[in-house]
Amino acid sequence: MVRYKKSFGQHILSDHKIISKIISMVPVKNNQIVEVGPGTGNLTKHILDAKPASLIAIEKDTDMITVLEEKFPDNQILNLISSDFLKITPSELPEKFVFISNLPYYITTDILIKLCGLKERIISTVIMTQYEYFQRLNADPGTKQNSSISIFIKSFFDVIPGFKVKKGSFFPPPKIDSYVFSLVPNTISENISDFKFYNSIIRSSFSKRRKQMASVLSKESFVSNSKNEISEILVKMGFSGAARPEELAIEDFITLANDLKQQ
Ligand code: SAH
Repeated sequence: MVRYKKSFGQHILSDHKIISKIISMVPVKNNQIVEVGPGTGNLTKHILDAKPASLIAIEKDTDMITVLEEKFPDNQILNLISSDFLKITPSELPEKFVFISNLPYYITTDILIKLCGLKERIISTVIMTQYEYFQRLNADPGTKQNSSISIFIKSFFDVIPGFKVKKGSFFPPPKIDSYVFSLVPNTISENISDFKFYNSIIRSSFSKRRKQMASVLSKESFVSNSKNEISEILVKMGFSGAARPEELAIEDFITLANDLKQQ
């Protein structure tokens, strides 16, 4: 009997219909697949049934690794890695792969940011997160729900909505419903000259979203422009010098970050 660990975000999905629907959102056949957090292997089994070229499954909990080794003995296609996905280096991953994960929810943002860095190698993804998290991620620019993480992720991937999964479909059930969606690489991020600086600019702008961006950004140690200089850049871009972050689209954040001087 497996004991589920809250600290690892373990919520197991065993409804075969839902699992089939998740897997059908990505091209598995003959592709190299990376699964994060296989748990007891329910998704893993369906992935293997869909005949991938290979499957690397990365699981942090060594108790789960034991379960997986027993469930899939001597499988030539499956490579189980007992590790924290956040510590995995690109050299441990295939050149091109499809990413599949019922994410450990406590590190959703860290995992998505890591995926942005791997964008060039990703064919497609199917991901499950908390429903509320998806809503924030998918918020349109200019709306109240919009957030720095939404702007950042959408600079690398298009968010393709999927479907809701009720909390009662899991064991043990999480507190809220989940949502399955796909992130498909786009080309927007190719114009970003410095990812880290770009991320800092977005985060800083949204940290005081009701204040004027020019004022908030000018106080950051990593920006060397004055408030007036930043206002002038915003005006040149077609905004008021007193613009707030909700008004800017993704491309506007890229232009702004590329025009600002780094400290
Ligand atoms: N895919 C399974 C389990 C999902 S629960 C299912 O749908 O039934 C999330 C899984 O991620 C758990 O097995 C948990 O142990 C694992 N996990 C948590 N943190 C992790 C990390 N940093 N790296 C890899 N796996 C992790």
